[in-house]
Amino acid sequence: MKSNKFYIRTYGCQMNVADSELVAGILSDAGYQKVNTIDEADIIIFNSCTVRQHAEDRVLGRITAESKRKKQNPNMLIGLIGCVAQRKGKKLLEEIKSLDFVVGTDQYRQLPKIITSCMKRKEHLFADVQNNIENYENIYPVRNNGVNTFVTIMRGCNNFCSYCIVPYVRGRERSRNHKEILHEIENVGNEGFKDVTLLGQNVNSYNDSEYTFPELLKYASQISTIERLRFVTSHPKDISDKVIEVMAAEPKLCEHLHLPMQSGSDRILEKMNRNYTSEKYLSIIHKLQDAIPNIAITTDVMVGFPGETEEDFLQTYNLMKQIRFDYAFTFKYSHREGTAAASYAEQIPEKTRLSRLQKLIELQEQITFEKYQEQIGRTVQVYVEHTSKKSDKELSGRTRDNKIAVFPGDKKLIGTFVDIEIIDATGWTLKGKQINPT
Ligand code: SAH
Ligand code: SF4
Repeated sequence: MKSNKFYIRTYGCQMNVADSELVAGILSDAGYQKVNTIDEADIIIFNSCTVRQHAEDRVLGRITAESKRKKQNPNMLIGLIGCVAQRKGKKLLEEIKSLDFVVGTDQYRQLPKIITSCMKRKEHLFADVQNNIENYENIYPVRNNGVNTFVTIMRGCNNFCSYCIVPYVRGRERSRNHKEILHEIENVGNEGFKDVTLLGQNVNSYNDSEYTFPELLKYASQISTIERLRFVTSHPKDISDKVIEVMAAEPKLCEHLHLPMQSGSDRILEKMNRNYTSEKYLSIIHKLQDAIPNIAITTDVMVGFPGETEEDFLQTYNLMKQIRFDYAFTFKYSHREGTAAASYAEQIPEKTRLSRLQKLIELQEQITFEKYQEQIGRTVQVYVEHTSKKSDKELSGRTRDNKIAVFPGDKKLIGTFVDIEIIDATGWTLKGKQINPT
């Protein structure tokens, strides 16, 4: 019997989540069957992340751990796709003997052919040519279950922030055709995904030579089959007043923006090649807060970039304290071979990076705690996703400003929008009660 059940385990960012759904679409079209647990699978695919060394080590460690499954199922195939596959290519087939195929970010259309060859001829194959134009048009992703989903609007990145490997493993920036995007949003809405996030490394520079980002955003937010629209990620150098205007004007655009700050030191921002200053960043925050009352702002921040002094770090710490983000993803700088920063002098010792990271985490935990406490007494709309982990009499969902909220309620409310009053909050979760329960 032909082995055709595949399972994909995804590591890393939302783009990888969306790419796994794309790959599931490609394989399903070719007659393969997606399964939801690794135990059922004949073909195990790891979609990998290489943005930090730790992410890469995790996925490669996992492959080794799962390889013992081949003893029970000699026909099993194990493959690696995504950013580590793109970065290391063929070398991986030599380093990890249990790997059957390695396929980079622009070569997913080849997966059915590669898998068939691996099965028939017991070959070990790779495809890692970066073509910089593949947009995966005409492929319909097989989406994971749920009520929220992503629609990819662009791929790649041209920014070359000096610490970042993404432009090397995902190639040049290219925007999908706006008609295809709008059509896909309409379709996912019809499928029951009412909360949609537009996805790209730098969505604000979207341009398909007919529409720029504010135009796409405006038309997307007027699609009748969806209820909520979001977008990620925005680069502070590209977010325009027009985008903020559209966010303020269009009711379906949610009151949340993820705006990576990276550092509060102008000297470091320049060395990072970010093309904005802390003052410019702060002015965008103020514009957003003026235009969109109660907007939640989240960010990415990095410590320990080469040459970061105690004074630079303090500027980051103080800017975070001043802005009071709803949430911040905090990272310690990771050396990525081939990036500009990898060759910079004054690499910061691990111990210093760790202690700075710890200080930022503590600061942000306190701010997030306070921000969530401030929500008590408010009435918010929750899009119900599933029952809560703790009890099946409790429901869990997301607010428009991207916070998790739980409240007592019946399962039949999953997939609907419910107004709740917030009565309590922990650092990460709002607790509420339904207003006017039916
Ligand atoms: N395109 C997005 C996401 C990039 S990766 C953006 O520009 O925001 C997500 C985050 O990982 C980045 O915002 C950055 O904070 C972090 N990151 C990227 N490269 C890193 C590195 N070498 N070391 C540590 N953190 C890194
Ligand atoms: Fe990396 Fe900068 Fe591109 Fe984001 S914008 S993916 S941080 S190079």
